Amino acid sequence: MKRTLTLVLALCAAPCLAQQHFLTLPYGSGEVVLTSGWFYDDGTLHRGIDYAFPPAEPFEVRATAEGYVVAVYDELSDFGEFVVQVHNEVGPLCGRRISLYAHLERGTTTVPFKNLSEVRNDITSEDFADWQTVSQGDLIGVAGRTGLAREGRIHLHYEVNCGGYAENKSDPYDIYDTSVHYPEPCGSEHLWTECPPVQPPNTSFPTGCGASPGGIITCILVENEPGEVGKDIWVTSTYAYDGVDFTPGGGLNDHELRTGGFSDWYYALLQFNTEGLPRAKQAWVAVFFVRSPGSFNQLLYLDRPLEDWDWRVSGTGRDRERLWWVDRPDVQVGSRLPDRPLLNEWFLVDITALYNDWVGGAYPNYGIQLRPHGNGNQWAIFASSNNADESLRPRLIVVPE
Ligand SMILES: [Zn+2]
Repeated sequence: MKRTLTLVLALCAAPCLAQQHFLTLPYGSGEVVLTSGWFYDDGTLHRGIDYAFPPAEPFEVRATAEGYVVAVYDELSDFGEFVVQVHNEVGPLCGRRISLYAHLERGTTTVPFKNLSEVRNDITSEDFADWQTVSQGDLIGVAGRTGLAREGRIHLHYEVNCGGYAENKSDPYDIYDTSVHYPEPCGSEHLWTECPPVQPPNTSFPTGCGASPGGIITCILVENEPGEVGKDIWVTSTYAYDGVDFTPGGGLNDHELRTGGFSDWYYALLQFNTEGLPRAKQAWVAVFFVRSPGSFNQLLYLDRPLEDWDWRVSGTGRDRERLWWVDRPDVQVGSRLPDRPLLNEWFLVDITALYNDWVGGAYPNYGIQLRPHGNGNQWAIFASSNNADESLRPRLIVVPE
């Protein structure tokens, strides 16, 4: 779609979208509040979420999803009496999702007990035959002050990990993309109770387009829509994302464009229809940074694909629903972009020289590749042309010569 920019940008960003939630809150009472999030107030990692019923009342703890549960009590453990829950869901990078509900009041769980090594063995062998089956919202205990909480006030420590190992803990807010949909206003019934520590969205373009002296519109805006020449997608090196098998590397043509990685790699590719467009004084690709499941601190490279990458018509993988890693295009490796993308803001990639080479015929337009600098759980995830919120979709901005 080509249209002249009139700068109509909705104020409602990603959080406005509706979303199905894999996890619900680990309690039923509206009196319960979040007392400590993924980070402590001093910025150090907590790696779980604490909930309390002020000032320090016990409250019922409920299963956040369906699955199997077992209780553990270890007088010396930081967690005191706690419930381990195995979910049916499997994390894309690390294995089966497991929840932990800690500091429960002694003797309040009705769940069968095991010792920690038995629990570990069961998880390793995937044998949950003598665990108890629960549904989302089922009562599994009462918040107390066992373990580390013995000197403190009654609270629930809730955390989620993959595979049962401490190093694979995830912020529950990030699991299954719930962080994209942080509540607006925060506190919706099935959402987490606290807003994330992020800046409010800034959906305005920072430069070049929009209001100019005398109100003259100087920009051409190109957006992609299904069925047009333009397209965008993300591709990844290890996980297939096709629901059939873990590997080989695939990706998804969904509402996001992922760049980054957690030891593996995620690249984004974008192509706009530049047919019939004039040479540019300035040209940018603009993408909106919607979320990061890890560190937000990511630098990107701008590469030039040397061949077409239309996954819908060609490819060697199991389907034509995604661009498989082995089918990603050869590229001319480009330079590192000077700025870092910022969460909830537009990220402008200056492609002026490349754009003029496209429209001047020096190169065929196979679009661009955004390649991350790091993959140590560093991410920049942008809205794609499939994003439900049109105002956040990628666009090509051209200021004609
Ligand atoms: Zn805690």
